[in-house]
Amino acid sequence: MSPHIDAATPHPFLGGTPKRLLIGGQWRPAASGRTFDTHNPASGARLAAVAEGDAADVDAAVQAARAAFEGPWSRFKPDERQALLLRLADVVEAHHDELAWLDTLDMGAPLRHTRGSRRHLVGLLRWFAGQATALYGQTAQTSLNGDMFAATLKEPVGVVGSIIPWNGPLWATVFKVAPVLATGCTLVLKPSEEAPLAPLRFAELALQAGVPEGVINVVTGFGRGAGAALAAHAGVDKVSFTGSVATGQAIVRASAGNLKRLSLELGGKSPHILFDDADIAAAARAAAMGVFANAGQICSAGTRVYVQRRIHDAVVDAMAEVARSLHVGDGLDPVTDIGPLVSGPQMQKVLDYMAGARDERARLVAGGERLTGPAHRHGHFVAPTVFADVHDPMRIAREEIFGPVAAVMPFDDLDEVVRRANASPYGLGAGVWTRDVGRAHAIARRLQAGSVWVNCYNQMDPSMPFGGVKLSGYGRESGLQHLDEYLHVKGLWIQAT
Ligand code: ADP
Repeated sequence: MSPHIDAATPHPFLGGTPKRLLIGGQWRPAASGRTFDTHNPASGARLAAVAEGDAADVDAAVQAARAAFEGPWSRFKPDERQALLLRLADVVEAHHDELAWLDTLDMGAPLRHTRGSRRHLVGLLRWFAGQATALYGQTAQTSLNGDMFAATLKEPVGVVGSIIPWNGPLWATVFKVAPVLATGCTLVLKPSEEAPLAPLRFAELALQAGVPEGVINVVTGFGRGAGAALAAHAGVDKVSFTGSVATGQAIVRASAGNLKRLSLELGGKSPHILFDDADIAAAARAAAMGVFANAGQICSAGTRVYVQRRIHDAVVDAMAEVARSLHVGDGLDPVTDIGPLVSGPQMQKVLDYMAGARDERARLVAGGERLTGPAHRHGHFVAPTVFADVHDPMRIAREEIFGPVAAVMPFDDLDEVVRRANASPYGLGAGVWTRDVGRAHAIARRLQAGSVWVNCYNQMDPSMPFGGVKLSGYGRESGLQHLDEYLHVKGLWIQAT
């Protein structure tokens, strides 16, 4: 059972010696002996020291993952992998409060929000359990002479290196672990240096659920050390990465040595389009929360809000009202809607974008500043912010901010807004609000995005794929496509006569 969780009780996971690396089923310090500290972004308090893995540790973890891939794990039948995923789902369900609490402490998201992921995360593990026994190849009717049996086999790609960010560590861990277990691959997971605690606790729970040694390895550390080493390692068959575009591009370059398979879920500057026949109150609230949720630290945040001119002023007012009504504070406080940004540098980056927007003469309607009152002064808090009179060329309309900053712009007609929405190097999500079902279908097909949400935003379900086009990356997570990212297709030809 989860230990009792509240703000005042120190968690046993946080006490004692530095958190260690998981390599081949053993918890070990980094080969260098180095550690780094992880902090609570709401208070600045040090939470724990964590092993700083580097190339030597990555090498040991990749060897352990290879040995496991070629060892008894390779003989696990689909129904055995399914049973393992179901046990893991049960353990994660029983400990979800604890995992959510660690995420809240480590990266700041409100406990209400991190706890709210239980159904989806446990559901994902159970959905992948189902997929483990639903892997199919195909047979082909060839045009060759003779009696040819031609078929495709699906085989696990091998050792997977997964590099994850800090904006949803628990989510990202489940997204990376579940397909590995379902397909029979093995994993070296590199959590973000900003928020490594929930992934480490998750790995403990995975061992408890019976995941064999070496199947899941965890190397904590920095991007330039452990991350870069994992991306370049010749013993890694695939890298699954979630993070920034610049790092994604570095990983593509690093992967060239052995032509690893890659899936990349990168940034976005997603358009959220509100037509004037929409339910204005619902649309405005969704547009606001599409930016402010998780303090704007969501890659599919709908940060470019295009509003049809007739309802523009009403939507700006309503979004500003939402911004002002949100309680910004420590994620452990039950009334908190929006937590801090993850770090000082991230906060400074967001404040710089706000200053730049003012310089470019966008009109500040709400927020626009760091919060420095008694409840905020030790953390990285900024006010939910709405800028109106934004023009497409302004930086806040083009660049990913990763903070709670909405850029609102008017538009007149469908062709215009499609052209402007698509005139971005990114293509992750897009939102549309309209009561006209024909228009909804038409625009959904024309928007360049991995996901289009109509009369809703940022919906997720294990059955649906998530991922991007253009600079938002390639590959899909969740949905039927996810497992194919972890499988090779082998052509089998048997001349029967
Ligand atoms: P974010 O904006 O989420 O911090 P990053 O791309 O900087 O995005 O970080 C995401 C993950 O990528 C983190 O785990 C980080 O340590 C890792 N990372 C950063 N730089 C590199 C790199 N050059 N190679 C591999 N991983 C990296």
